[in-house]
Amino acid sequence: MLAAPIPHNESERIASLRRMLLLASPDEESFDRVTRAAQRMFNVPIALVSLIDANRQWFKSCIGLPLRETPRDISFCGHAIQEKSLFVIEDARLDARFADNPLVTGEPRVIFYAGRPLRNAENFLVGTLCIIDHRARQFNEQDRRTLDDLGYWVEQIFYGRELSEAQHAVLRELDEVRRSAMLDPMLNVWHRGAIDQMLEQEVLRAFRTKTPLSVLMIDVDKFKQINDVYGHPAGDAVLIEFTKRLRSVTRPYDSLGRYGGDEFMVVLPDAEAAIAVDVAARLLRAMRSPVMVGDVALHVTVSMGVGSADFVSDAPEAPQLLLRADTALLAAKRLGRDRIEVHAGPVNTPGVPLTRT
Ligand code: GH3
Ligand code: MG
Repeated sequence: MLAAPIPHNESERIASLRRMLLLASPDEESFDRVTRAAQRMFNVPIALVSLIDANRQWFKSCIGLPLRETPRDISFCGHAIQEKSLFVIEDARLDARFADNPLVTGEPRVIFYAGRPLRNAENFLVGTLCIIDHRARQFNEQDRRTLDDLGYWVEQIFYGRELSEAQHAVLRELDEVRRSAMLDPMLNVWHRGAIDQMLEQEVLRAFRTKTPLSVLMIDVDKFKQINDVYGHPAGDAVLIEFTKRLRSVTRPYDSLGRYGGDEFMVVLPDAEAAIAVDVAARLLRAMRSPVMVGDVALHVTVSMGVGSADFVSDAPEAPQLLLRADTALLAAKRLGRDRIEVHAGPVNTPGVPLTRT
């Protein structure tokens, strides 16, 4: 096996990659859309946006692999970033550089690999968009052009990435190791401590800028039953699929966090209640299609509570805003689940009686 080579400009390259604030960051819909499209277009089981860090490759977007990272020295992408254009291995078993690579001989059985090197705005090759199959494949000129186009799309996302101020601040202030500790390892969304911190920062910002802010609390309905009937791994699969659907209906600058077992929180800056309700209604619709766990189609519903304030006439502190969302969520559960309730007024008053099912 030939270990992935180290580029000549390695220390500058790593510094530039770190400045992108992409390593150990939560999943982002914009990247996942490209990998999902790649997976469908090429009909492959695995599609990744892989970033080549000092000792590992870390997957910013990861479709079809249960891992988030693998060692750099055995990575295919580590080779690919040495290339100016695509790096294609049609059958790794026949290539002396890879035939005895543990990723080829064992899981995830990388037999076919095609990687499109990705440049960042500072012109460093920081990673790849790659597709992987468990069988040998041919990759023709048209395939190459398609993968190249998709890679270009990922580079545009690098340049135009939009994050909320609060998320940007956390990513900027913490190094990768501390950031990893703030992410839920299974779902790659912020954990409770992190999302609470973001809510506090967004409340301060809303107060300063007099712009509305909403919080959406979501709890999966009868989740215990799913665990009891189909087992804990099925419950995990439901949470993973739910998180994907939730991410697909939010905006890039919304922050997603796991608040507890099956409870999630979304902080929506610059969003009055109607916008938050719109996001929630889209999630309700997204949950209408069944979640497939193996061959079983599960009908999963969620209850949601929106807490909002305009921060002009009504400027609550973070715990009060959260209490509004919680109160609304409790009402949604009480009123029969699979619905949205809103609390957009001061606590202990009815608020805006806006209900959608
Ligand atoms: P309700 O409609 O009232 O929300 O009913 P529920 O059954 O969903 O009740 P609740 O929200 O209290 O149940 C949450 C369950 O989630 C309890 C716990 O065993 C389970 N759980 C918590 N974390 C995980 C996890 O990471 N994976 C799985 N599979 N289950 C989890
Ligand atoms: Mg629940």
